[in-house]
Amino acid sequence: MDEAKRLEENGTPVLNLNIGNPAPFGFLTPEGVARAVAQNLGSSQGYVDAKGITSARQAIQREADRIGIPHVELDDIYVGNGVSELIVMSMQGLLNTGDEVLVPTPDYPLWSAAIRLAGGVPVHYRCDEAADWQPDMTDLRAKTSSRTVAVVVINPNNPTGAVYTRELLEVMLGWARQHSLIVLADEIYSKITYDDADFIPCGSIDENVLVLTFDGLSKTYRAAGFRTGWMIISGPKHLARDYIDGLNVLAAMRLCSNVPTQHGIEVALNGYQSIYALTSVEGEFCQQRDAAWEALCEIDGIQCVKPKGALYLFPKIDVSKFNILDDEQFVFDLLHEKRILIVQGTAFNYPEPDHFRIVFLPAKDELTFAISQLGEFLSGYKQIQR
Ligand code: PLP
Repeated sequence: MDEAKRLEENGTPVLNLNIGNPAPFGFLTPEGVARAVAQNLGSSQGYVDAKGITSARQAIQREADRIGIPHVELDDIYVGNGVSELIVMSMQGLLNTGDEVLVPTPDYPLWSAAIRLAGGVPVHYRCDEAADWQPDMTDLRAKTSSRTVAVVVINPNNPTGAVYTRELLEVMLGWARQHSLIVLADEIYSKITYDDADFIPCGSIDENVLVLTFDGLSKTYRAAGFRTGWMIISGPKHLARDYIDGLNVLAAMRLCSNVPTQHGIEVALNGYQSIYALTSVEGEFCQQRDAAWEALCEIDGIQCVKPKGALYLFPKIDVSKFNILDDEQFVFDLLHEKRILIVQGTAFNYPEPDHFRIVFLPAKDELTFAISQLGEFLSGYKQIQR
């Protein structure tokens, strides 16, 4: 990323396929949401409740009810400066030094970083590429120890695009219940699914498991720059009083989250869900996913599971064919030759240097051109170790 920035500063344009940021690709916040924020600027000048304004939390509460997360009170909802802030907060409040948290590999690396920052240890459980990237429960079970306190579930998944089946989630939640693990459900792509994929919220599965559900405006409502997300606590809250007290203290320590954009939440959740026009068969997200996936599959030496959700593809490279030992160098070499920025798989704490992530937000033509450039690059590529 630093190198791409340096190139751009020197006047070389780079196609950034490295970050799921809808707005630069023309996917804009629904007008009603933006208007609600603008109209409420005047009434957003003071601090508000540390957990968020009431109208926003009421809308989140109704949404929780709609998607089947039971018994959510207003007090169980925290609005934050993006899911990112709430992830860090939830880990800071939870972990003692050396506590372990199960995190998928590949992961969304903020989770592993937030766990480490809070003194904990991320323990990565494998997701199985051969099973459409569903979590490998045998591995997850083997990695649960007496120090494990929680399990992170990212569904729909970044970076793989997997959407987990109900059967799998039931088994996972059953395991969590048996071992008294808190489930940290990062569901920021909850409404971004394709084909017949059915998103099942973790919080709707077993009311005997403490679940923290994370979602927000960044992706579904294309408002990543608003920095507005929320966290819902559900399940046996009475068993987590100290933790919840800690979360309340942490929320109060930053006084409150950005107020103007909180006014967008009610309109976003209650209004017309324009996201479904993008994810339908005719929609741009779906069409771009198809085009990118087909173009990638045509490249000799690349295989790719078709994503069923989110905004990314996570293809596998035949590393022996290209002599790739270092996937960061591969990404760097591609950037220098083709001015295209993607992300190496090891950045997602994936153990082998044989994957990369690509965002399918650009228009179809731009995407297929970029992927054909990648194919051209690979056709002559043999990594020389530096
Ligand atoms: N969680 C996942 C899985 C993500 O992919 C992202 C952003 O890409 C985030 C959280 C961050 O969300 P926010 O913009 O609400 O901080």
